[in-house]
Amino acid sequence: MTDWKTRTKLVHEGTRRSQYGEMAEAIFLTQGFAYESAESAEARFVKAGEDEFIYARYGNPTTRMFEERIAALEGTEDAFATASGMAAVNGALVSMLRAGDHVVSSRALFGSCLYILEEVLTRYGVKVTFVDGADLDQWKKAVVPGVKAVFFESMSNPTLELVDIRAVSEIAHAVGAVVIVDNVFATPIFSRAVEQGADVVVYSTTKHVDGQGRALGGVVCGSKEWIRKVLEPYMKHTGGSMSPFTAWMHLNGMATLDLRCRAMADSALRVAQALEGEAAVSRVIYPGLASHPQHALAMAQMGSGGTLVTFEVAGGKEAAFRFMNALEIAKISNNLGDAKTIATHPATTTHQRLPQEQKDKLGITPGLIRLSVGLEDAEDLIADLRQALAQA
Ligand SMILES: *Cc1c(COP(=O)(O)O)cnc(C)c1O
Repeated sequence: MTDWKTRTKLVHEGTRRSQYGEMAEAIFLTQGFAYESAESAEARFVKAGEDEFIYARYGNPTTRMFEERIAALEGTEDAFATASGMAAVNGALVSMLRAGDHVVSSRALFGSCLYILEEVLTRYGVKVTFVDGADLDQWKKAVVPGVKAVFFESMSNPTLELVDIRAVSEIAHAVGAVVIVDNVFATPIFSRAVEQGADVVVYSTTKHVDGQGRALGGVVCGSKEWIRKVLEPYMKHTGGSMSPFTAWMHLNGMATLDLRCRAMADSALRVAQALEGEAAVSRVIYPGLASHPQHALAMAQMGSGGTLVTFEVAGGKEAAFRFMNALEIAKISNNLGDAKTIATHPATTTHQRLPQEQKDKLGITPGLIRLSVGLEDAEDLIADLRQALAQA
């Protein structure tokens, strides 16, 4: 790793060139690698060198470029690229846990993350305790000696509630627990999770890293020891590795990741400010606004409010649907971090399965809209939102 700044790393870090000296990152669409001799095959299986690969499920030159680039960005020694964000979350947890272990997690989680903690881990005898992620007293009570891992999303979906990474890491480390952070909403650009105490940082690279809604991908970032000794054996033998084609798309996308995330976050702030003044909007949630209860924490933790804005259309589900159907630029979908602005109605889509009581607890009201702000001109976006609100 070098001491380059973010934008330089995003363009150059991890690049491996073949004997042709190609300028652009090459895509190695190969599952295997030919050995010069039986002896060299044997030697590689004993210990593969830096530039030696065995099988694409174990590693591939294009995938390795992506891993090195994102590890450098995140400030970790190493990373392992996975087939999706969920393969990353599942791998990070399952690779390190065994029956009888105890995990503490925040409750406000992406549906599939909740499934892994609630359904998968418990099925294999792992004890899971859920806490309200913003409440440090609950973390202090739940993280007792013997807890192996602590898991949380640093900014929750869709209500943009933050978990204090530094404070929770201190609590976890006092009992020797590993801190695993799903950092998707913070983006790798605004993330300082490792500096703030996280041990393992997980991303769905489907989101901002791809940035154009093309490919599913994920990555787990951590120390060389943890990634190679704990995570890699599980990932390479269970088949959750990233495709070289996806890694190649991500490498291309990363050159503009910093520019894109900052432009999206600038527009998100302008959108949030504009929505705060709209009579048809009963509530605006954006960590970059002074009105957000954790505004100070957001600025200290990310230096930005991020690229998502959540708000409530007055008039419940009917008004929210009329608003969404009237949008001309923003698309109705459920991805995020895309160049195209996306409006999502969590109560009927991403969080549909949750019982009403759980929705109430998480603040997922019938009028709630989650907006992933894209790269369009902010003035056009605000005009689109205003004309759609007028029809709500
Ligand atoms: C999207 C997402 C995931 C899952 O990622 P996939 O790439 O869809 O598998 C996990 N956590 C969070 C917070 C997400 O937004």
